[in-house]
Amino acid sequence: MALSGIQIYKLLPQTNCKECGFPTCLAFAMKLAAKQVELSSCPYVSEESKKQLAESAAPPIRLVALKGAGAEVKAGNEVVMFRHEKTFYNKPGLFIHVKASDPDLAAKVAAADAYKVNYVGMDFTVDGFALVLDSDAAAAIQTVRGATKRPLILIGDAAALQAGLSACGGETPLLYAADASNADALAELAKGKAALTVKADSLEALADLTQKIQAKGVEDMVLDLGGKNLSEWLTRSTQVRRLALKANFRALGYPVIAFPCDAQDEGIAAAQAIAKYAGFIVLSEFKPELLYPLLVLRENIYTDPQKPIQVQPGVYEINQPKPESPVLVTTNFSITYFSVANEVEGSGLPAWLVVTDAEGMSVLTAWAAGKFDAERIAKAIKGFDVASKVAKKRVVLPGHVAVLSGELEAELPDWEIRVGPREAVDLPAFMKQALN
Ligand code: SF4
Repeated sequence: MALSGIQIYKLLPQTNCKECGFPTCLAFAMKLAAKQVELSSCPYVSEESKKQLAESAAPPIRLVALKGAGAEVKAGNEVVMFRHEKTFYNKPGLFIHVKASDPDLAAKVAAADAYKVNYVGMDFTVDGFALVLDSDAAAAIQTVRGATKRPLILIGDAAALQAGLSACGGETPLLYAADASNADALAELAKGKAALTVKADSLEALADLTQKIQAKGVEDMVLDLGGKNLSEWLTRSTQVRRLALKANFRALGYPVIAFPCDAQDEGIAAAQAIAKYAGFIVLSEFKPELLYPLLVLRENIYTDPQKPIQVQPGVYEINQPKPESPVLVTTNFSITYFSVANEVEGSGLPAWLVVTDAEGMSVLTAWAAGKFDAERIAKAIKGFDVASKVAKKRVVLPGHVAVLSGELEAELPDWEIRVGPREAVDLPAFMKQALN
């Protein structure tokens, strides 16, 4: 049974030392009760209290990790309904549906496994494969393992799952799926060796089944919510999340699996699953045109809203710059950096790009917040010793911060300060026309 904020408070040191980041122990206790902080943030909780708080400190949605032959995908451990309340932690794994009986199994897995696309400095890939064991399971696993190390979801009857699991020695796959008819057999099979998907026609039946399976010693479970259509699935997924987080209902405190591959519009179903709480998502086949937008959507939803995606401050060389090449300045917000870098790189024009530490903000936001001013820009130019790389001391400011040019002249008296265009897309033309 979950403890209330007041009950938790009574177990805390009550010294209000603030080391946890909250002004009082009571404030911390309230956040802990709401699952919005971790107990480890308070370094002074006694061992005795820790034991009593274990129930409250445990994640409301169990962390389930699928392990392949060298790669892992985790789901669960989420603590909020909405991303802006804190953040979402474990991105839902995107799995590609393949069949053991497919004569092209090896080639299909290899093609999907090799997929890698770069988005603002991050490499995106698929996360694993959902293998239907509709023919020799051991042979199929061997074929798949010849083409990928990524985790597997094994789909089949009890006999096929047993053969598949034996062939996955040392890995932790997800078995699909236990229902009222086979729960005992699959629980026995999964215990200590695999995660187990549980499915039922209603949330009540699902909760009964997870408790029954847990009593048999299986801890890692994943919920298949069923649902006739997008609306029903969304309703159930939201109810499960809410029950787990708000009511601490442990029987449904597990990650959810979604099968957009079965939906009429796979893209919409997959996007909904990403946005609304799926932990594992099975796509019908490897289609880069579907995968890429889903990966970008997932990244945007699972980015910590308080920590923008950043690149390392420094001097970046674009198109092998020479001493006479221009010096451009921007901030370390990833999207800003890649907008500038891609435009210049695409133009073929060489340049030195000085990326200042603006705490991950874009140019205008950083300027408004006082994180991108003349002092910081000058500090970056001096700190990265840009002068030693160039023959002509000339720096181009983003047009949005033209107002800084006077102050920058004062900070860098031996540099020529030029104001560039407002938009990155106009940089190549500016470099060609105004910097020669
Ligand atoms: S760190 Fe612990 S003792 Fe200090 S204010 Fe936070 S909860 Fe209280």
